[in-house]
Amino acid sequence: MSQESPVSIDPAEVAAFREAVLSKLTYSVGKDPEHAFDHDWFEAIALAARDRIVDPWMDHTRRIYRGNQKRVYYLSLEFLIGRLLFDSLSNLGLLDVARQALADLDVDLDRIRQLEPDAALGNGGLGRLAACFMESMATLGVAAHGYGIRYEHGLFRQAIVDGWQHEQTETWLDFGNPWEFERAEVTYKIGFGGGVTNLPDDPKGERQHWEPADVVRSIAYDTPVVGWRGRAVNTLRLWRARAESDLHLERFNAGDHVGAVLDEARAESISRVLYPADSTEAGQQLRLRQEYFFVSSSLQDLIRRFMKQNGDLRELPQYVSIQLNDTHPAIAVAELMRLMVDVHGLTWDEAWTATVGTLSYTNHTLLPEALETWSVGLMEHLLPRHMQIIYLINAYHIDALRAKDLHDFELLRAVSLIQEDNGRRVRMGNLAFIGSHSINGVSGLHTDLMRVTVFKHLHQLYPDRINNKTNGITFRRWLYQSNPRLTRMLVDAIGPEVLDEPETRLLQLESFADKPSFRKQFVEQRREAKVHLANLVRERIGVVLDPDALFDVQVKRIHEYKRQLLNLLHTVALYQAMRAEPHIDWVPRVKIFAGKAAASYHSAKLIIKLANDIARTVNNDPTLRGMLKVAFLPNYNVSLAEAIIPAADLSEQISTAGYEASGTSNMKFALNGALTIGTLDGANVEMSEQIGEEHMFIFGMSARQVEARKAAGEFNAQPWLDASPRLNEVLQAIHRGAFSPDDPNRYKGLIDGLIAHDTFFVCADFDDYWDAQRKVAAYWRSPKLWWRSAVLNTARAGWFSSDRTIREYARDIWKALD
Ligand SMILES: *Cc1c(COP(=O)(O)O)cnc(C)c1O
Repeated sequence: MSQESPVSIDPAEVAAFREAVLSKLTYSVGKDPEHAFDHDWFEAIALAARDRIVDPWMDHTRRIYRGNQKRVYYLSLEFLIGRLLFDSLSNLGLLDVARQALADLDVDLDRIRQLEPDAALGNGGLGRLAACFMESMATLGVAAHGYGIRYEHGLFRQAIVDGWQHEQTETWLDFGNPWEFERAEVTYKIGFGGGVTNLPDDPKGERQHWEPADVVRSIAYDTPVVGWRGRAVNTLRLWRARAESDLHLERFNAGDHVGAVLDEARAESISRVLYPADSTEAGQQLRLRQEYFFVSSSLQDLIRRFMKQNGDLRELPQYVSIQLNDTHPAIAVAELMRLMVDVHGLTWDEAWTATVGTLSYTNHTLLPEALETWSVGLMEHLLPRHMQIIYLINAYHIDALRAKDLHDFELLRAVSLIQEDNGRRVRMGNLAFIGSHSINGVSGLHTDLMRVTVFKHLHQLYPDRINNKTNGITFRRWLYQSNPRLTRMLVDAIGPEVLDEPETRLLQLESFADKPSFRKQFVEQRREAKVHLANLVRERIGVVLDPDALFDVQVKRIHEYKRQLLNLLHTVALYQAMRAEPHIDWVPRVKIFAGKAAASYHSAKLIIKLANDIARTVNNDPTLRGMLKVAFLPNYNVSLAEAIIPAADLSEQISTAGYEASGTSNMKFALNGALTIGTLDGANVEMSEQIGEEHMFIFGMSARQVEARKAAGEFNAQPWLDASPRLNEVLQAIHRGAFSPDDPNRYKGLIDGLIAHDTFFVCADFDDYWDAQRKVAAYWRSPKLWWRSAVLNTARAGWFSSDRTIREYARDIWKALD
């Protein structure tokens, strides 16, 4: 993907960068250019780029310190970063310089780029949001630190063998990580277990002494995060766990060799792997250890920084905001209280005011099974002092309600931090809510639903706390880096200012939607991206795609609520219709799927197998004459997303209404000019407002209708089958094994289950989806209309920039930008 530069490059800059790379190759990598492998070049380029980041990084850090600027700490168990080479070069304005410098050395930067492993320290949307936010905060000059875990193994690598998902260990650190700085001197002790004793001089018993049984060490690794045009550089600080070496050496010397090593392994297991769950899985002890480990390290670190500069923790909310990305860091409420009361000697009330004033919490899901709870027994065992603090917070909270004459038993039960039915458990969502001054949802609909579902009662008690911050995406990655062709067109059409102010400037593109010459160019850039993707698909899975077909794309985690199954049913229906009526002039279509299923999520894994079974059948059916192709691309990750999204004509955002908190791939696709087929769910609602419903294909039940059906217990799909011969035929074919002749029973359970209890209303929405897809095909037949809408999607996607989202967080929650 070579790129001509729109501006002339300074030869002196090129020479300087070339020398810098050669010097890194020689003195840091230790290789002679004559004998360097591609990977050596990657390392040398990354190190040369990193050098350019260090000065602005230190400048920025000094500026924040001197100005005593409010700091924002973003705590997230996940950062789905992807590759950083183009991110850094592009934000530093060095991309063309580097490309030229490398070309002078006969090295192709665009090939070397592919060697960087994705930093996949996250499962999906939630982790990617954290990565987009880090970039936007640096771009806007928010003095932000990201805090998370430096997992040795990120999200598993997905291999597809015989159509089934296999999980393989991910090894992104095998060749080292040129972006990070190890900070061996930044280290904290993290305790687990043990007991708590009263302090004799504290009659109220607020302060306690915790003597942990085990201590683990955390060590910081810093990655600089460069904002657009290098304006500001923030820090992503990730923690690695190590055994407390003194302890372990003593045991070793005492002869307990195996025990000492086991301790080490146990300690280090905390930062070994990203928890391989996506929203539906139950937790386990290691996960709670991970959560506490990174929260405690981060809070100790930020308090140390604060004490050095300010010294009075009661003033913490004036200088510090801590954003909790979902409930994973919710133990921060109890840990901050512990540090303030037990360690720094604040009174309970002072500490509570400072805690609530500092913390804010982002909710990401309404799915009851995904709301974190921990058994009281485990909590008492692992974090005895925190369990006490949680009981005390709960008691004061309930007391305060009673004092206000609130005695409603149902209400008190609902807002309690302890869930009493089926085993006593700590509700992390309620803990995060009560301990925060702001609780936000991630799209308008999701926030509305939060107020009437999960946090209905807490919202009644604290009506000012819940607010909405609709998610966004960083355009630097999801447009400038991933789609340089479209970016260049935009610069040519509306000027280079669009790169700095896309939120307002992109709207100028609206008038270009009516210019045939511009639409033609738009089609051409899309076609190039499709050719590029077709090549990738052929290389990876051997399926040949026609770049002139309609590319219909659904890429995201595989989850029943996201309804890949609905898309597959449509694929089968289309297949059957094409075979039954070959005389019709069908729109050639390519169905592209990608996504990982959680390792223990059996129905999701079966859906992957079904996609592959359908693909094999359809792709090998000569009667179709290539009118329909199905491709399931293995190992979906950020880099694959960057290749797929610019090539999509149609974006599938078809979740059961009320289930997708926001979605962000919907925004990435629209920005790149794909049209959306989708339900009115998550941020699709805001998209329909910004872009116009007439430039999308909206279908299906509304969240309200879904809710009514759920309340009435109407899950049986038989009525829908009776009403739809098409759906009936599709389900029968899958049921009898038409796509699984090697195992005709493979999908019987899936289909029988779907009919008996259609939890996600796949059948209920099928006919409406089919009709919407017919409208898609008809629209595609009118290129003028289609491409006009495509251009308008790009023109009107500006609001979905994560810069807009971050400005709203900074203004409403953090009070961090003037
Ligand atoms: C954007 C993104 C997601 C989120 O996709 P949704 O469709 O919004 O769930 C997940 N994974 C990757 C790699 C992404 O880039």
